Amino acid sequence: MRAFLDPRQTKHNPQSFLVLGQQRVSPEQPERITRLKAGAEAAGCVFEAPEDAGIAQIAAIHTSEYLSFLQTIHGRWQALDGASDEVIPNIHARARTDSYPTSPVGQAGYHQADTACPIGAHTWDAAYWSAQSAIGGARALGEEECAYVLSRPPGHHAYHDQAGGFCFLNNAAIAAQDLQEQGARVAILDVDVHHGNGTQGIFETRSDVLTVSIHADPDAFYPFYWGHAHERGIGDGLGANLNIPLPRGTQDDAYLEALAHALQRIQGFGCDAVVVALGLDTSIDDPFQGFAVTDQGFARIGAAIAAMGLPTLYVQEGGYMSDALGPNLTQVLIAAQG
Ligand code: ZN
Repeated sequence: MRAFLDPRQTKHNPQSFLVLGQQRVSPEQPERITRLKAGAEAAGCVFEAPEDAGIAQIAAIHTSEYLSFLQTIHGRWQALDGASDEVIPNIHARARTDSYPTSPVGQAGYHQADTACPIGAHTWDAAYWSAQSAIGGARALGEEECAYVLSRPPGHHAYHDQAGGFCFLNNAAIAAQDLQEQGARVAILDVDVHHGNGTQGIFETRSDVLTVSIHADPDAFYPFYWGHAHERGIGDGLGANLNIPLPRGTQDDAYLEALAHALQRIQGFGCDAVVVALGLDTSIDDPFQGFAVTDQGFARIGAAIAAMGLPTLYVQEGGYMSDALGPNLTQVLIAAQG
């Protein structure tokens, strides 16, 4: 299986992470790449660096204001007296108005949804190449039945103009848009334990891309404000978003039942390609402890997706440091190749 990763993606190394008001080590570490790469290679993936497809496909999803912010904010933040090494907002724009702030502090609050997306000196470079890897994967799908993208930093919490939850550029959305421009009708299936709120937000007014997410009930789990079953899309997009929230601690059988429901919806959409936002943080061994999917469960997930017989691009989302991280990926990708 072809797989995509650029070495520059390791350069983002977030230092700050707040849990219940306390500073902790960020779970979104560069070491994830080493473990995920080993897991993918054990499933027969052969990695290549993506070509640079340029900014256009990224700008098809994200606003120019936001892209400019991501590229320049670190330097502008550093120029402020007493600024921290990483850009972390201390204010958030509750209700946006037409007044876009010029101050770096105001812009940080405007474009960063939470404190889990600190921007360091190399964040833009890493996020840019993570997105380029996703585009490389989308283009490989023209010739392959499936491909894997080790997109790190991840993307599914990023909106068209906002970072959040370790995410800066929405890799799965960028890949889906690229596939659509190649003429495919696309569905995005998000199996990360957290709701894909950014992806939903990007496509929620569109009927041409189906978004489906299976995740821990947001009533008591990040991202809290999105991911409920009643969010079905807006305007033209009504009916093109499906959320399947499940209780904390959900195990293999219940998860697979929800997945069957999701896959039925995807098949009913009549798509030519599927982008799987592949979070592995549903694992029983994941530090987030949302669900309790086992190694065997991951093999069943990969097999169920492959049984649809549709060209499928696996785009990495979450999945954090545990000994199971690489092996869980191996299980999915072996099953994905039938
Ligand atoms: Zn997640």
